[in-house]
Amino acid sequence: MKTFTERWAKGTHFSIDYERHLHHEVTPFQTVDFYQSETFGTFFTLDGLMMVNEKDEFIYHDMITHVPMAVNPDIKKVLIIGGGDGGTAREISRYPSIETIDMVEIDQRVVELCQTYLPLTASRLNQDPRIRLFFEDGLKFVERAQAGTYDLILVDSTDPIGPGEGLFTLAFYQHCYRALGQNGILINQHESPYFEDYRKEMLRAHDKIKRLFPIASVYQFHQPTYPSGHWLFGFASKKYHPLRDHQKERWEAMGLKTKYYNSLIHQGAFYLPTYVNDLFQ
Ligand code: SAM
Repeated sequence: MKTFTERWAKGTHFSIDYERHLHHEVTPFQTVDFYQSETFGTFFTLDGLMMVNEKDEFIYHDMITHVPMAVNPDIKKVLIIGGGDGGTAREISRYPSIETIDMVEIDQRVVELCQTYLPLTASRLNQDPRIRLFFEDGLKFVERAQAGTYDLILVDSTDPIGPGEGLFTLAFYQHCYRALGQNGILINQHESPYFEDYRKEMLRAHDKIKRLFPIASVYQFHQPTYPSGHWLFGFASKKYHPLRDHQKERWEAMGLKTKYYNSLIHQGAFYLPTYVNDLFQ
């Protein structure tokens, strides 16, 4: 038995025993590893950081997709930035009312390897004709996007080091704002409030987004394999408020079966612990 260990903070590490190291590769963008473990099933890391595993991926992918869909169930045109494992595309593609899903992933190898080792998240990428894959930098893609093209942008990125850095800049958020229509919603991987390094990035992202969007809040979820287990998504919008405009009845009438998300979680996720509220003062 061998052990994968990720550094979470100074003097603090998280470890998983694994049976097999399935794949190791250095792509032009990052180092990719796939492992087989008893507790978390197959999991993969980028530059030594946990990305997705078979046991808790449903939490992240439920929360990135169903929250905006329950605020505006009429979303038709979706842009995913990053998300190479395919989990976000899989979950958003469960809505028959969505017309197009553009997914822009910088690293084609992540998609190919997930199609081989993680069909749980990646298998829909080649099965749904509404999903169009683009292999390029998400920042460059939104720079070129026509104004008002999308109803929803989901930023399913790595942390703001390496290729993900550009996805945490003011310029990127400005282009997202422009690429969204008047009903537009932006959801972004918003780091964690708990450990200092992650907290700094979380606050930097929030400061930029709130300068641009009239509605900018964060919501929380529990991801056991991300540092501290306490993680946030950002919800930014030109007009919809995540709670006042929550279309609970319409979303429930669609009858989607989910394992983490439900209408009470939707509401509760926006009520933050006091120490997190204080960070935003
Ligand atoms: N849920 C994961 C997490 O937060 O740990 C992230 C999932 S997904 C694997 C993140 C993806 O973002 C990676 O596949 C990475 O290649 C991609 N990515 C990073 N920077 C990017 C960029 N500038 N443009 C497009 N995709 C990018």
